[in-house]
Amino acid sequence: MRIAVLSDIHGNLPALDAVLEALAPFDAVWQLGDVVGYGPQPDEVVARLVDVGATGVRGNHDAAAIGELETSAFNTDARTAVLWTGTHIGAGTRRWLAALPETSSKDGFTLAHGSLRDPTWEYVLTTPAARASLAILTTAHAFIGHTHVPLVFREDDGLVEMLAPSDGSQLQLDGRRTLLNPGSVGQPRDGDPRASAVLLDTGAGTVEWRRVPYDIATTQARMRAVGLPPRLVERLEYGQ
Ligand code: ZN
Repeated sequence: MRIAVLSDIHGNLPALDAVLEALAPFDAVWQLGDVVGYGPQPDEVVARLVDVGATGVRGNHDAAAIGELETSAFNTDARTAVLWTGTHIGAGTRRWLAALPETSSKDGFTLAHGSLRDPTWEYVLTTPAARASLAILTTAHAFIGHTHVPLVFREDDGLVEMLAPSDGSQLQLDGRRTLLNPGSVGQPRDGDPRASAVLLDTGAGTVEWRRVPYDIATTQARMRAVGLPPRLVERLEYGQ
């Protein structure tokens, strides 16, 4: 099976569509949360995910948009965007987001938004944080998002190594436990503004990272038109 694994789409439909086109053909889509928040097209993104039969988990922005998470821990721009999202999504989007679990297990992979010990909030950017999640991982491998940075943490003989995959990087999975972060589709933060995602081939046991250009200006124009914070509009072109 070829599986497109996507995270942090954040209501950015042009980025999602570019990624789906670049990764095709695939048999399934897994998403790792933050489907909405920041971006101007939350309903359209959810509709597209429904179309392609995506399954996955809930992120902090998804939970906050439907009123199931306090927004006090969000920074000002993120809170403004999540409150905008909450008042602009339709009932179908709300139901779809509400049905997403915090974690999920599929075909030997665990899916979570942040980390295994705190799926909603924890950012896994360091080996100590990765070690804590690897210690409680009940499958060989996990896909996580939330940081918007493509990264791999792999346990090897008690040590945890960190790898930073770039466009075209391929990882051969083996018995070593790993945390795999595809990066963000809709708001990359590693200095590369192209959308980021991975293709998992369960038969070959490989994960391939892909960077995909998309029409950033169109997303920015839609954000300005609906009055989302200028800083969120600008950061898309810097990938930060
Ligand atoms: Zn996010």
